[in-house]
Amino acid sequence: MEIQKVGVIGAGQMGNGIAHVMALAGYDVLLTDISQQALDAALSTVRGNLARQAGRGKISEADMEAAMARISTTLALADLGQTDLVIEAATEREAVKQAIFEDLQPHLLPHTILTSNTSSISITRLASRTDRPERFMGFHFMNPVPVMQLVELIRGIATDEATFAACKAVVDKLGKTAASAEDFPAFIVNRILMPMINEAVYTLYEGVGNVRSIDESMKLGANHPMGPLELADFIGLDTCLAIMNVLHDGLADTKYRPCPLLTKYVEAGWLGRKTQRGFYDYRGEVPVPTR
Ligand code: NAD
Repeated sequence: MEIQKVGVIGAGQMGNGIAHVMALAGYDVLLTDISQQALDAALSTVRGNLARQAGRGKISEADMEAAMARISTTLALADLGQTDLVIEAATEREAVKQAIFEDLQPHLLPHTILTSNTSSISITRLASRTDRPERFMGFHFMNPVPVMQLVELIRGIATDEATFAACKAVVDKLGKTAASAEDFPAFIVNRILMPMINEAVYTLYEGVGNVRSIDESMKLGANHPMGPLELADFIGLDTCLAIMNVLHDGLADTKYRPCPLLTKYVEAGWLGRKTQRGFYDYRGEVPVPTR
């Protein structure tokens, strides 16, 4: 089936990036959130990021204006029922996602494909609560969406081949690369990445190193472009903690237990860049380590 209209649920870091790349690739995008402020902020972020691409000569001014014109916003989730493909990118909490799909269901066109950008929650379980588990799958973008090349496509146990093929065609049209992952907690990238980040937090917690020495060590010693704590701030510490909890619960192995220090940062509301404070404090000119 041909996908033309894409609905994006959640206008946070990921939702605005998904709206950006979809609109640039020629899809009509309808973006929703529970907060008008989040919708307004998302549009201005998309405009800013498109302008940066135009400034670097990657896209033309006309491409930028055409992309902006393809994005509409709404506070009414039901409006997304009229799209061909829904990508849910709301907060990483299963109850939130379940409620969204439940509320959306009565408004859906029969052919609409439902997907979730979840980093870790079971696709099969989310799908089983809808009326279309065969047309439900994981559509997992990486952050920042306009920059990162990979999209993980995750089949639930019931996902049919037509749905997978339709989503794969979208990834191709975006000029990105799809990796097919099985539906196990955190899929491929986060199954490997999050335990490393969690271990970096333990290294900090146990005083083996401080924020700066841990990040420097992994940049210069393992050739990572970003240190693990800097990367955690970038992803969002609440998201990192949620993924560790999913790994811990889903695989029932103590090696995935979240570091108490990560929990403490989240409890403090120090969630990383999005709240201006995490392992670094971003309120000044340059990021300053908080430990
Ligand atoms: P975020 O906190 O930046 O944004 C979440 C948005 O969802 C907020 O604007 C919030 O208002 C909105 N929201 C909450 N409940 C809603 C509801 N009922 N209906 C509509 N909108 C609602 O989070 P994010 O980093 O953009 O993450 C979103 C999803 O993407 C999560 O599932 C996360 O696991 C996944 N993800 C995140 C990353 C990352 O690096 N941050 C990478 C890949 C996937």
